Amino acid sequence: MAKLTFTYGAMNAGKTTSMLQVAHNYESCNLTPCVFTYEGCDDKGACYCRLGISRTSNLFNKEYSFSSLDLSGISIILIDEAQFLTTKQVFDLGKIASFNDIPVMCYGLRTSWQAHVFEGSAALLGIADELREIRTICQCGKKAIMALRSAPANGQGDEDLGQDKYVSVCRKCWLNSQGE
Ligand SMILES: [Zn+2]
Repeated sequence: MAKLTFTYGAMNAGKTTSMLQVAHNYESCNLTPCVFTYEGCDDKGACYCRLGISRTSNLFNKEYSFSSLDLSGISIILIDEAQFLTTKQVFDLGKIASFNDIPVMCYGLRTSWQAHVFEGSAALLGIADELREIRTICQCGKKAIMALRSAPANGQGDEDLGQDKYVSVCRKCWLNSQGE
């Protein structure tokens, strides 16, 4: 049985870079990766990482049905911004791993800048075969696990992810920023 994997980390930890490397590795072996990113993060249909690499990607939104995806010829499914998956989409991806024997690797944040666990991340933490963490560091030198908004944003929602406006911090620095 193929695995459903969730790789999580704070912003700028290198999740997209890591995912693009996996896609490249598959292609080097003449295998076909199927790459998705969230429509709300990029409407041009590409994944971009901080190191300047990008690739054309399929887009998913909350209504997208992974169960209707044509799986012929696909060796692996790679999902960036997986925190924005719905619970149903995570279960559909789990079915693909279990019944179609195609590995699914999801990459995303655990929590929003408000420290809310994203729906997709909660489902993945619950049913993924394997959890992996990509680490990055806080300004204080500890492991960063949360996001802090460093500049005013337009919206108040968890999906307001203009990523330049955020820094990755440890819990202590996050709590200090909240005045707690
Ligand atoms: Zn810190």
